[in-house]
This record gives sequence, structure tokens and C-alpha cells, in this order.
Amino acid sequence: MTDEANPFESLQEQVDDAAAYLDVRDDVIERLKHPERVLETNLTVDMDDGSIGRFKAFRSQFNGDRGPYKGGIRYHPGVSRDEVKALSGWMVYKCATVGIPYGGGKGGIVIDPSEHSARELERVTRSFAKELRPLVGEDRDIPAPDVNTGQREMNWIKDTYETLENKTEPGVVTGKAIESGGSEGRVEATGRSTMLAAREVFDYLDRDISEATVAVQGYGNAGWVAAKLVDELGADVVAVSDSSGAVHKADGFDPVAIKDFKRETGSVSGYDDADEEFTNEDLLTMDVDLLIPAALENAIDEELARDVQADIIVEAANGPLTPDADDVLTESDVWVVPDILANAGGVTVSYFEWVQNRQRFYWDEERVNDELEAIIVDAFDRMTEAHESFGTPNLRTACYVNAIQRVVDAYMDSGNWP
Ligand code: GLU
Repeated sequence: MTDEANPFESLQEQVDDAAAYLDVRDDVIERLKHPERVLETNLTVDMDDGSIGRFKAFRSQFNGDRGPYKGGIRYHPGVSRDEVKALSGWMVYKCATVGIPYGGGKGGIVIDPSEHSARELERVTRSFAKELRPLVGEDRDIPAPDVNTGQREMNWIKDTYETLENKTEPGVVTGKAIESGGSEGRVEATGRSTMLAAREVFDYLDRDISEATVAVQGYGNAGWVAAKLVDELGADVVAVSDSSGAVHKADGFDPVAIKDFKRETGSVSGYDDADEEFTNEDLLTMDVDLLIPAALENAIDEELARDVQADIIVEAANGPLTPDADDVLTESDVWVVPDILANAGGVTVSYFEWVQNRQRFYWDEERVNDELEAIIVDAFDRMTEAHESFGTPNLRTACYVNAIQRVVDAYMDSGNWP
């Protein structure tokens, strides 16, 4: 991974690239390149040893033209103000890409959760929820899971908010456990949309995904589910990795078995059914049909992009390619299905969860998956139509063209005030 590219600048470049195809005033585009507001706070929390810990935390509300701000909260030592701003902007264009009625937001705490007990993490989470209370709500801003957060953290946020507000409002946060108002299918949703995007792009290119070899970088919730579901389509998952390193097996892994191994040992490295172990860089430059980056931003920079041998990349992570890497891959005719479509399953099923919370009426998993499929396939078709009609250099710009137009239309319809 490189830290050369600032993700916020990457976002701004992506907006500019697409704006060139649209008949929208520069001052209107400029608005779409900056967050409306960013909360920066220092959480002071009792540690188990009696000391007081301090944790910097952010929430960026990027744009609310299409609905309440929406987006996850990540726990990672590398969280920064600019990263959170970028991720919140990507949420705006992600929600517009799939046509769900949200703006975009994102939060993060600078913390390494592996260094803290569950009790400490609960206090840190509740402290952040207390800071967020005036900003969030089912019609204001709706947090969700992201890197290193999941049902447990969302349940704590919901409980803190509901306790302080003295009311029941499960739709204040999504990604909750089922008994706390979560939705069937939410845990798998990001990996599921990644699989659907992969299936659609293979189809679009007249290629057979059941014959494909696949490498997956990152074996967290998004990566491992994507691996499992492409394997179910008949593809061979020949390499997977996590922060510990990568493993390779020429005739394909059983994605579930390797997930079980990681659950037991904490990493994919050392998996005994592998032919060989290598590095994340080796994995990213492997000769495979499909590469799924499912870890963090900037996994592939310009230099590494020159060595990429995959024909197709489907982005399960947010922002895994730097803009320079994107240019190199476009020039070398690698098809990239962008994050704002490929991983949009997470927020789409968050939307279903929010709808169910508001209606107090819950769907079965089949309905969730069917509705998700319809939305992703429709968004994919709109993207390829824009790619062909505007002649965009790649699918990312096509996606942004559609998404920006939707946000601009909402803004222009409402008007500026004051
Ligand atoms: N963190 C996920 C994302 O980046 C999900 C956000 C949500 O469900 O609101 O899309």
C-alpha cells in the first residue's frame, strides 16, 4: 500500500473527470467537491487500567441534497480527517449511483481495536455516539458499519442514542444485529453486490465467469463473502490475502474453509491447503481474470498498476485505486467496475433495513437479495449506457456522470438558500 495519494484529492479528481461530460456550471460542481460540515472530536474514555484514553474521531456530512447523510464508521489507526471526507463523498455518489434516497456521510475513530478490550471498545463507541447525538437521527444522518465495526458497535450506538433521546428509533443506525432491528442479508450485502457486479461485467464483455480465476485482496466481511459467492458461480478463487500476507492455490480454494481458518488463527497466512505464500503485491499483480481489491484505499498505485495482469477489477473496497493507477489501467484496457457501484450492496441493504425499521415490518432474506439484485443490475445497465453514450474512458467516469447528474438535479430542484 502507498500513502502517496490523498483520498480526498482522489475524490475531487473523480468528480472533475466526470463533470467534463456534463453541462453543469462550475460553481455547482465546486459545491460537490467539499463536505458540508465535519465534526472533529476528542473522546476521553476510562481505560481498564484506570487511565483516561484520548481518541480523535470524525464525522463528515458531505452532501444532503438527496436525503439524510448516510455512511459507515470505521475504527482504524490510519483514520484521518481527509480520509473521512473522501469516504463521505464517495457515499454521496454511491447512493446516487444506486438511486437510494440518501446523501453521504462517514465517520471514523483513530484507534486500533485489536489493542483494546471489548469493554473499552464499548465505552469508546458510546462516547462517540454521545458526541454524534445532535447530528444523527433517522432523518438526519444514519451511521453504519465500515472497516473494523459491525453489528456489536451499531447496537451500542443505537442503545446510546435511544437511551439519551428516551425513545425507540432503530433507524438511527443500520447494520444492527437482527434482534436489535437489523435486516436479513445485511452482513453479506457488500460481498453480494461485488459478486453481482462481477457477474454483470463478465456478461457485458461476453465472458464466462464460471471459467474465471479470481484473486481477492482483503479477507474481511466484503472480501470473503465476494469470494464465496463468485465461487458459487463456478469461478476459481486462486489467491486471497489479508494484512498478514497472501496465499495461492492454483486449482482454487474453498472460500469457506479458509474463512474458518482465519477465524481460528486470525489470518489467512499459514493456511495448510495453499500451494505457496506470497505478498499482497504479488497477489495484486497476478495473472488472473478477475481481481477483487477488498481492503483499504490506495492498494494499487501508478507503479503497481503497470504490473497488473488481471483483465477485470471489481472494487469491493472504497478507493483501492489511486487516480494515476486508474489512468494506467484505462490505458491498458483493464475493465474496472468502480467501488461506488460494486460495493453499494452494503448501503443498499442498509436502506432496506431503514425502510423495515420505519415500517416495523420485516422482510425475509430472499426478498432482500432479490431487491438488491434488481437495484445493482439496473445501476450497472445505467453505467454501461452512460459509458457508451458519453464515450467515457472508463466505467468509473460513467458512474460519476450519472451520479453527479442526480445530485445536481436534486440541488437545482430545491434551489440554494439563503
Ligand atoms: N460502510 C459501507 C460503505 O462504505 C456501508 C455504508 C452504509 O451501509 O451506510 O458503503
